[in-house]
Amino acid sequence: MSEFVMTIDGATPAPEAVFEVLNPATGEVFAEAPECTTRQLDAAFDAATKAQRAWKLDEGARRSALKKMADVLFAATAELAPILTAEQGKPLADASVEVMASAIWCQYFADLETPPQVIQDDGEARVDVVRRPMGVVAAITPWNFPLTLAFWKIAPALLAGNTLVLKPSPFTPLTTLKVAEMLRDTLPPGVLNVTSGGDELGAWMSEHPQARKISFTGSIETGKKVAVSAAPDLKRLTLELGGNDPAIVLDDADPALVARAIFAGAFNNNGQVCSAIKRVYVPERLYDDVVEALAASATDIKVGDGAEPDTKLGPINNRPQYERVSELVSDAVAHGAKAVTGGHPMDGRGYFYEPTILADISDGVRIVDEEQVGPALPDIPYRDLDDAVERANSTHFGLSGSVWGTDADRAAEIAGRLECGTAWVNTHLALGPQQPFGGFKWSGLGVENGPWGLSEFTELQVVHRSKSADGLNLGTAGLVS
Ligand code: NAD
Repeated sequence: MSEFVMTIDGATPAPEAVFEVLNPATGEVFAEAPECTTRQLDAAFDAATKAQRAWKLDEGARRSALKKMADVLFAATAELAPILTAEQGKPLADASVEVMASAIWCQYFADLETPPQVIQDDGEARVDVVRRPMGVVAAITPWNFPLTLAFWKIAPALLAGNTLVLKPSPFTPLTTLKVAEMLRDTLPPGVLNVTSGGDELGAWMSEHPQARKISFTGSIETGKKVAVSAAPDLKRLTLELGGNDPAIVLDDADPALVARAIFAGAFNNNGQVCSAIKRVYVPERLYDDVVEALAASATDIKVGDGAEPDTKLGPINNRPQYERVSELVSDAVAHGAKAVTGGHPMDGRGYFYEPTILADISDGVRIVDEEQVGPALPDIPYRDLDDAVERANSTHFGLSGSVWGTDADRAAEIAGRLECGTAWVNTHLALGPQQPFGGFKWSGLGVENGPWGLSEFTELQVVHRSKSADGLNLGTAGLVS
C-alpha cells in the first residue's frame, strides 16, 4: 500500500509519529497512518480559518469545486475501493459503491439551491432571511462507512461556505487521507484539512476554540462527550449516533419475501450500519417460517475476505467490535436464546463471525436492548401488535425502524407510530442525499442531508432594509421593545 499522509493547508505536514492500521480480514498490520500532534491540529484549524475568508465569498466557485470533487472520486473509484476494503473489510463491490456514493453526494449538493426568503417587501421595508456559513467545521467520523459519512459532512459544509478539519476513525483512516490528497488540486489550500489519530484527537478537535461547529458520527457514548466539549463555547452541533432499529412484521406479511428483505436490511455491511435492523418482532403465527427463512439466508451467504470476488459479507471491522458481538451472542445464548444458525467466531485468522440468527429471545436480553452493530439478529415473537410497537419504542434509541406487511397503508400507519428519525415501510436502509437522516432521543441531534442537513452548516441571518427616508421605521417590534 502506498504511503498515507495528512493534508493540512493543502500540503503534507512532516510526520512526527505514526500508528498501525490492520486489515480485519487478516488481523495483520498492512499500513501506517500519521498521528496528528496538537501543534499540527492547530495548524489545520489556522489554515481552515484563513481559507474560509475567501471560500465563503464565491458560491459559484464552491459549486464548481463540488462538481470537480465528484469527478475526482468517480475517476479514483478503482484506486480507492481496495484501500477501503483493506481497512474496513467490506467487499470490493460495496467499497466501490461507497466511493461512488460519496461522489453522488458532492453532485447533489453542488446543485442544491436554497434561495433566500423574502418575508417582507413593502413600502416600509424589505426583509430577507438568508443563510450564512458558520466558519470552521470539525468533522469526526466512524469506521463503518468512513468515506460516505465523511462526504455527508464535507459536501454540505463546503457548499454552505465553511471550511473543514476532519478526522476519520483510527480503524479506518486511509481512504479519507488518500481522498484529501487527491483533492489538493481541486480545492484551495486549507479548505479541507484531513488529520488522523486516535480518540484523543477527536477530543482535541471538539474542544478546539477555532471550531464553530462539530459534525460528529459515532456512538452515543462518544456523542455525549462531544456535546460536553462543545458546551463551554456554545459550538453548534450535529450528532449522528447509534441505533437499535426494530423491524415489525405484520400478520399479513409473506414470510419468505419479508425474510429476504429483512436479512438484507440487517446484514448489510455485515450488520455494521447505524440504522441496520437490529431486532425483529414477528407475529407468533409467522414466527417459525420467518426465522427459518432468515436462517436460510444466513447459511447461504458467502463470508470472506472482501478482496475476494465472491465475498458478500466481510469480517467485523475491529477487535473490540468483534469481541462485543461475540459477547452479546454468548450472553443471549446463556439467557436461553437459540442460535438457529451461527453463534460463533469463525475459525482462522481475521475478525470473522458467523452470520447469526437468534430465536426464542425477548426484550431484557442485552442483544435486544443494546446496539450490536454486527452480524447477529435477534428475532422476537409477539402476540399483540400494540405491545410490539410499545416494545419497539421502549428504548433510548430512535434512529430508524421498519414495518413489513402486504397492506402497505396499514404498515405505514404502524410505521408512523415508531419513535425514530426514519420509519420505512416494506424496505429498510433506503437512503439518499435528498432525504434528511437523523435520530430521535439518544440517537442524535439534528439531521444530515437534503436542505435540512445543509441548513445545519449555516446560521440564520435576517437582513432588514428600511425603506423610510429617515430610517426610523422600527415596525411592530420597535413599538413593543
Ligand atoms: P466511536 O464513537 O467510538 O468513534 C467515532 C469517532 O469518534 C472516531 O473517529 C473516534 O476516534 C472519535 N472519538 C472517540 N472518542 C472521542 C472523543 N472523546 N471526542 C471526540 N471524538 C472521539 O464510534 P465507532 O465505534 O467508530 O462507530 C460505531 C458507532 O457509530 C455505532 O454506535 C454506530 O451506530 C454509530 N454510527 C452512527 C451513524 C449515524 O449516522 N447515526 C452512522 C454510522 C455509525
